[in-house]
Amino acid sequence: MAKNLKPETICVQEGWKPTKGEPRVLPIFQSTTFKYDNSDQMARLFDLEDSGYFYTRLQNPTNDAVAAKIAALEGGVAGMLTSSGQAANFYAVFNICEAGDHFVCSTAIYGGTYNLFSVTMKKLGIEMTFVDQNASEEELQKAFRPNTKCLFGETISNPGCEVLDIEKFARVAHKNGVPLIIDNTFATPINCRPFEWGADIVTHSTTKYMDGHATAVGGAIVDSGNFDWQAHADKFLGLCTPDESYHGLTYTDRFGKMAYITKATAQLMRDLGSIQSPMNSFLLNLGLETLHLRMKRHCENAQAVAEYLSKNEKVAWVKYSGLPDSPYYELGKKYLPNGSCGVIAFGLKGTREDAIRFMDKLNLICIVTHVADARSCVLHPASHTHRQMSDEQLMEAGVAPDLIRLSVGIENVEDIIGDIAQALED
Ligand SMILES: *Cc1c(COP(=O)(O)O)cnc(C)c1O
Repeated sequence: MAKNLKPETICVQEGWKPTKGEPRVLPIFQSTTFKYDNSDQMARLFDLEDSGYFYTRLQNPTNDAVAAKIAALEGGVAGMLTSSGQAANFYAVFNICEAGDHFVCSTAIYGGTYNLFSVTMKKLGIEMTFVDQNASEEELQKAFRPNTKCLFGETISNPGCEVLDIEKFARVAHKNGVPLIIDNTFATPINCRPFEWGADIVTHSTTKYMDGHATAVGGAIVDSGNFDWQAHADKFLGLCTPDESYHGLTYTDRFGKMAYITKATAQLMRDLGSIQSPMNSFLLNLGLETLHLRMKRHCENAQAVAEYLSKNEKVAWVKYSGLPDSPYYELGKKYLPNGSCGVIAFGLKGTREDAIRFMDKLNLICIVTHVADARSCVLHPASHTHRQMSDEQLMEAGVAPDLIRLSVGIENVEDIIGDIAQALED
């Protein structure tokens, strides 16, 4: 396909490239296995000497086409799909961290990632230090240790809607010889491409805007190919020294810019197996075909709703980087010039119960444990997604106990505002 295509074209056309007589639409290769003519052909695949399909846990043509589309959207060299966003973030870090290692992470992250990093990965012997992403570079520097292996943050935090200064994070990471990993779920590559600001690896919960219709849980990892693992070979032994489980092959020698994703596929997917089902990646691909149209509408609608809420006397506060009085307005203009996303965080005057009553009165906007799909929905993180956290942990993660997370969909905005208005009435 032609180089330098615009994101809208990539959304529709990239990935599946049919040749003569093949289906125009990406087929669902619903097959666990793939046939070869002789034993030697198969053996070469197991030695990573040839590329090809042999078992869907490692690779599948439907998944690969969709991963290629997402990689192209992000401007990366290689991508892979995972069964969920959780698996994507776990693999992204675990691919370069092992027991005895350490990494640094912003506190302004999704609750599931918070638990994964601070509880589950700790059990694997991997330590993590949280930092305030708004801190100065000098302050951030203090969190780094000789065994630190990466820095992690979200472009727009879920649910606090804080915009990350990606360039600042990239400078600090690179000064310490480690990659910057960015969870770009909320912005999507339509509104921000973190590689253009120095990030090295991007992750997604494709469950959100990419799928966009709330049909399939999934995740993705994309590598920019920019991080020079060899220049820090002493830190990244898994990539830069022989892998005994692949006959002593060294990923950086053999695969160059593809080393990171190849290792994540060949080792982590082989051993841990969080593959996306081909059916789900087919659904994800349908979502991606309209991502550019939907993101625009999500942003327009959310901007109007945020303005409405900020003028309503029953509303105590609104967090949306598109509002000029947002502390993230300037960062938003820089990193998200076309808009941020459809998610707004706000609080009502009154008690926690007032927030619950408001949510229960909504009709069109329903209470669901989801965010970032076509249908407007609402959630109270302190009583739902983040309920394992103490009030102190909630505040640290930018989640006030009264925070209502409103995910503005792509319906008619007058209907969305009308529903909010009636629910705010006494
Ligand atoms: C939802 C979400 C995740 C987790 O993704 P799942 O697909 O639910 O596993 C990770 N990061 C962010 C920012 C999310 O919103």
